[in-house]
Order: sequence, then structure tokens, then C-alpha cells
Amino acid sequence: GRYFYGPIDDLVNIGDLLQRAEASGRRVFEVLDAPVSVTERPGAQPLPKPVGGEVRFEAVTFGYDPARPVLEDVTLTIPAGERVAILGESGAGKSTLLSLVTRGYDPLSGRVLIDGVDVRDVTLESLRTCAITMPQDTFLFHDTVLENVRYARPEATSEEVEDALRAAHALDFVRALPQGLKTVVGERGVRLSGGQRQRLAIARTLLARPAVLLLDEPTSAVDAESEALVVAALDDLMRGRTALIVTHRLSLARGADRVIVIEGGRVVEDGPPAILRTRNGAYAALERAAQQLDGTLPDASPDRTTL
Ligand code: ADP
Ligand code: MG
Repeated sequence: GRYFYGPIDDLVNIGDLLQRAEASGRRVFEVLDAPVSVTERPGAQPLPKPVGGEVRFEAVTFGYDPARPVLEDVTLTIPAGERVAILGESGAGKSTLLSLVTRGYDPLSGRVLIDGVDVRDVTLESLRTCAITMPQDTFLFHDTVLENVRYARPEATSEEVEDALRAAHALDFVRALPQGLKTVVGERGVRLSGGQRQRLAIARTLLARPAVLLLDEPTSAVDAESEALVVAALDDLMRGRTALIVTHRLSLARGADRVIVIEGGRVVEDGPPAILRTRNGAYAALERAAQQLDGTLPDASPDRTTL
């Protein structure tokens, strides 16, 4: 199917989705072979509630090949509710960093903690309910809009799904579809634009109410037409939550509480964007380069639109 055309790092997220789909008793596409690189530890516990959402990387080193580290000695504390933009060139390790939070992979050394609890001690179900990844392009099941959004929280009423769609700036286009919320999308269903799919993903994520949001270039597959709506919906989605957002969009970086620049698997800068701008470091260089381009941070990414 056409779901496989995304970059390799999307597979981790599709794996999360499938586990959740399976847990809720839904049919899973037999062709999707999710990578299983981590297992649940015996005696794993759910994260204690309410989940605050502090994320901490403690001296984390990781490599897909242990001989070639992709992240080296990363130490970061992200307080609950903070919005952090993660910048860096393609291949720097940004997606990898996000994947460690939901245990797409485990560190070779060091620890990743949520609210002070090592994620390896948390049940996968609880971890992936509290921390949700939104990839560049979103996976939709061959099912109705209603079910595609609701599957984030199967007990949600249609009214709650509608509220989530409204908050995600998606209700108007959904209502205009041939069968409204009952329209079948996904493979062989009604074709949606990248921006429409992303707004459904935002609605789905809103319904799931995660404490921690991991956004991996969430605007890069979005058409110019939907762009402003997606950015507005993302802003609402991130409010009140811990958010780690990998982005090439300067406006999203400027709107963050904090910017982290990763180069070659190491954090080379870390601070509020307004302060980093005044230093002569990587972020300031990126801002200057972006202004000479078109408002987009320089990178090999397809995300080239301006806002
Ligand atoms: P970014 O998101 O910053 O572009 P990634 O975290 O995707 O960077 O990748 C960091 C490095 O890890 C790159 O050299 C990339 O080729 C490699 N890499 C990413 N995913 C995998 C994987 N699943 N298996 C092996 N190597 C990978
Ligand atoms: Mg990436």
C-alpha cells in the first residue's frame, strides 16, 4: 500500500499504532510487519497517574549498530509542559531521539525517564498512551473518519470525536465529505490531502490526551492550502503538554520555549530561541541562512514552505 513510502523512522510509529489497534481488537493489515526491538520487562508497571510529562535523557548513547553511535551522551531535562523544538541537519539523530521516548529502541547506555521513571520499567501500553508520536505523514486505516479518529480512545462518543475534529480544524472538511464522518478513508477510500490527513492525526492525538507529544516534522507532508490550519491545530495540540517537535519551520522553532540543536548525535545548543539568536552559534546561523532562503531552515528535507 502507499503507507510505506515514508521514511524509515515512520515505521516505529506505525508499529505503535498497530499495537494499539491490536489491543482494541481491530483488524491489522497482515502486510505490516512492525519492528519489534524492545520487550516489556516482567513486573513493568503503568506510569503513576496523573502523568506530569517531564522527559529526561540521562547520558544516553544509542546506535542502530552499536559500533556506530547515532546519539552520544545526550543529557536533557524537559520539564512537564515545555515546548521544545529540535533542530539539526538530516541524519543528525533527531528522529532517533524521539523514538527512544516511546521505546522504539532502548539506549545502549544511559536512561530515558518520564516523571522520573525509567521507560523500560513502564508497561508498553501505558508508555504509548502517555507519549504519542505524530509522524510526517499519518497512517489511516481503511475505515471511516470516525473510527480512524476514535481508535485513539475506543470508548469516545461520536460527540467527543466531533469536538476533537473541531479543535483540530478538521470538522468543516470532514462534514463536506460524501458521507461526513462515516466516509471511508485510507487505502482505496476517499483520498485526502496531506494537510487533511495531518488534521485527522491531530484530532486522533487530541482524543488520546497524551502528556507527552513527539512531533516529527509534522508539517512536511502538508499542502500549502492546509498549512495555516495545520500549524494552528498543532499549536492548540501542544498547549499544556510536553512537546518535542522536530521541525524545519522557523516559525515553529521561534514559538517554542526552548530550542535544541543536534549535530552528529550531540546537543550543540540548548536554550530559548530569543537568547540563542543573540549568540553566534548554530541556531543564529540557521536563522540567518533561513532568512536568505525562504523562511525555512536549511536542510535536505522536503519541508520547504514558508510561514
Ligand atoms: P534525523 O531524524 O535527524 O534526520 P535520524 O535519527 O533519522 O536522523 O538518523 C540518524 C542516523 O541513524 C542516520 O545516520 C540514519 O541513517 C541512521 N538511522 C536512522 N534510522 C535507522 C534505522 N532504523 N536503522 C539503521 N540506521 C538508522
Ligand atoms: Mg528524521
